[in-house]
Amino acid sequence: MPITRVSDLADKAQCPLLVIKVGSALLVGRDGVRREWLAGLVAEIAGVRARAQQVIVVSSGAIALGAATLRLEKGGRGSLADAQAAAAVGQIALSGLWADLLGSHGLTAAQILLTLEDLEDRRRYLNVTATLTRLLDAGAVPVINENDSVATNEIRFGDNDRLAARVAQAAQASAVLLLSDIDGLYDRHPKEPGARMIPVVEGVTPEVHAMASAESNSGLGSGGMVSKLQAAEIAELAGISLVIANGQHDRPIARVTEQGIGTLFLPRRKAGARKAWLGGRLRLKGSLVVDPGAAAALLRGSSLLAKGITAVEGVFERGDPVAIIDAEGRVLAHGLSEYDAAECAAITGLHSTEQAAVLGYAPRSSVVHRDQMVLK
Ligand code: GLU
Repeated sequence: MPITRVSDLADKAQCPLLVIKVGSALLVGRDGVRREWLAGLVAEIAGVRARAQQVIVVSSGAIALGAATLRLEKGGRGSLADAQAAAAVGQIALSGLWADLLGSHGLTAAQILLTLEDLEDRRRYLNVTATLTRLLDAGAVPVINENDSVATNEIRFGDNDRLAARVAQAAQASAVLLLSDIDGLYDRHPKEPGARMIPVVEGVTPEVHAMASAESNSGLGSGGMVSKLQAAEIAELAGISLVIANGQHDRPIARVTEQGIGTLFLPRRKAGARKAWLGGRLRLKGSLVVDPGAAAALLRGSSLLAKGITAVEGVFERGDPVAIIDAEGRVLAHGLSEYDAAECAAITGLHSTEQAAVLGYAPRSSVVHRDQMVLK
């Protein structure tokens, strides 16, 4: 049963595994770490664990903390090199803090630092899943952050919102709670008169995206509402509920579960785990443009054949994720290509009987098989 009310987050049966993401602005204040606040949150996490629910923490704050120590300008976000240096310094303090505070409740913290690629590559993704499962079975509380010191611009999540959603997917969590400095999603800029918080969102539609305001960004982290909605989309596709709530108050988890203050994004459908992984991938290597006949066939559940392709964009290898788009550029599906880009281009528009001569070997049954495809 998917979670349909925020109070379900406190229910062991509905929510056996909860991912809690803590934003930088909550953890780091003007005078450094907000230890007292974090102690309060950790006490709540201990309460969740006492109800026999499992918890994974995704903690931001390494860059903000390290920047303060190294006295770097712009909170350490002035350049990639600054962010990497700041994260290296801040992460030690951050994990020490979590280990210390969780330890005071008899809980063992386990640090995992991940890059985007760890969750994009199928083999590494499954590895992360196995490690998390083992840690949870052993009773530890995984505390996860992006490995900012080695992640470069091109291969970064950059925000822990999407990281939290991907971690939830890898760990097959029931829900994600994004704690930040805003109560939830508002229908317009929250400071505008008449702004209303939306309690439940069914589907992150273009209208929902339009509500997100970049100005809801605190400046300390890198998220803002835009990345929270992207996280909600990943979760939605993976069949996981996601809640955006304000962590600035006392007992922020109880504020969500008991007072119901927050925005709940309902999962859309329960895609198979592999398809969910595919659909949540962020780094597509190219696109296959298809004609209207092929587009219609895809929507009916068919595989993509070379005959229906009109153009190939990007450079990709066999097995790489690509977007399947129509002539107007609308994304119809994501899938794994059976051919590299050059081969795709060579067989574009060709019937299967014509392909062997071009390829020099017997063609595969399709360019993107429907089992390796997720419709958007
Ligand atoms: N990984 C970053 C850090 O620890 C935070 C990313 C974010 O702001 O979401 O500082």
